[in-house]
Amino acid sequence: TKESVKGFLRRNLFVLLTIAAVALGVMLGFALRPHNLTLRKIKYFAFPGELLMRMLQMLVLPLIISSLVTGISSLDSKASGKMGMRAVVYYMVTTLIAVFIGIVIVLVIKPGKGHRDSPVASSGTIEPVQAADAFLDLIRNMFPPNLVEACFKQVREFTCQLIKQLFFNTLWAVLLQETVVETIPVSGSSNGVNALGLVVFSMCFGLVIGSMKQQGQALRDFFDCLNEAIMRLVAIIIWYAPVGILFLIAGKIVEMKNLAEVGGQLGMYTVSVIVGLLIHGLFVLPLFYFLVTRKNPYTFIAGLLQALITALGTSSSSATLPITFRCLEENNHVDKRVTRFILPVGATINMDGTALYEAVAAIFIAQVNDMELNFGQILTISITATAASIGAAGIPQAGLVTMVIVLTSVGLPTEDITLIIAVDWFLDRLRTTTNVLGDSLGAGIVEHLSRQELQSQDVEVGNSVIEE
Ligand code: ASP
Repeated sequence: TKESVKGFLRRNLFVLLTIAAVALGVMLGFALRPHNLTLRKIKYFAFPGELLMRMLQMLVLPLIISSLVTGISSLDSKASGKMGMRAVVYYMVTTLIAVFIGIVIVLVIKPGKGHRDSPVASSGTIEPVQAADAFLDLIRNMFPPNLVEACFKQVREFTCQLIKQLFFNTLWAVLLQETVVETIPVSGSSNGVNALGLVVFSMCFGLVIGSMKQQGQALRDFFDCLNEAIMRLVAIIIWYAPVGILFLIAGKIVEMKNLAEVGGQLGMYTVSVIVGLLIHGLFVLPLFYFLVTRKNPYTFIAGLLQALITALGTSSSSATLPITFRCLEENNHVDKRVTRFILPVGATINMDGTALYEAVAAIFIAQVNDMELNFGQILTISITATAASIGAAGIPQAGLVTMVIVLTSVGLPTEDITLIIAVDWFLDRLRTTTNVLGDSLGAGIVEHLSRQELQSQDVEVGNSVIEE
């Protein structure tokens, strides 16, 4: 048994280290809180965490492009079409279920009932963002006019407008009342990557060079090699990940405002989101996986632990993507043709946690405003919450920004987003973890459903090798 303990430790070294890092981070964070560090000192302290975030983000861009191009060009168009359809159906169904769970929970718990905790100043004169604008923006982003720019700049008009709106109308008013306010992710959304645009382009590009037979070989080799190289970099960064996660979490805990203030309605709202995410992540998604594959979902999830913890630490599904790839391929042995195709798309558009949270938040805001929602409005919320989750980029607190789609669709005041800002950094981490879980189980499910196509492709490749 000594040998088996050793073997277990060796196999699970990283997972154990990462879990230890989270525990240490929490302890260190709480130990440092009483010292009331200045913001600058907190920044210095959390620096190792910031570095991890930057390393991961650095890899995301080439990873998305190379994995999608190789993934798709290595499949024939029929196989990739079928696989894509399965993924989209899975994304849609699970996202809608997540929204449904969120709605049921917020209607049962009713976190927003009773007197309004924190009044927010009335809005100014800036024209509110329309849901239609946000939809158009989503489509617009699918076709970046400048690919190079798409790699470092995300042109989201409605996002900029919302930020302006929040800042000028309410944020200052709220700040003056000294209410707990977190910063809106201005830099995150405006300096991010237009991942959606790159995903669409890389998929089309992959399809085309896949159909180019001999002529396309050089490009296929190029992207294949690029992908391999990036994954090797990931293997190096993974050594550093526990350190980074420790400081990301500790830094956030030191910085966090007094938790005692988060009582009453906001506390109940937080509980509602957490309960919803737990039900979806721990029961519904695993059940889905089990029903399709007849395999134990929790063994699969155990293999994902490191990705899930990274999501918790970074609150970004894009930044977690490199680790998600590694967990699925190395621990769970999911076929690379599937992960390369499914994961970048999933990290960009499939966000169950975000969808659930958007629905809960919108109905919470309605409850706070004493607004009775009819069935039609709840239906509208479920559709727009789904759209808002698709539109949210996989970066920290993106979901808070796309909330505006949901709120405007049923005529709720967008400035009330400020009501939930205080706890958003925390809920963001949990919903990001759910998002990554949904993407990963999706890859497992699509692999299972596509095993025929994959096998027949294997046979074809085998034949061509023999012919050569
Ligand atoms: N942070 C989330 C993610 O990266 C998006 C959100 O804000 O809901 O998946």
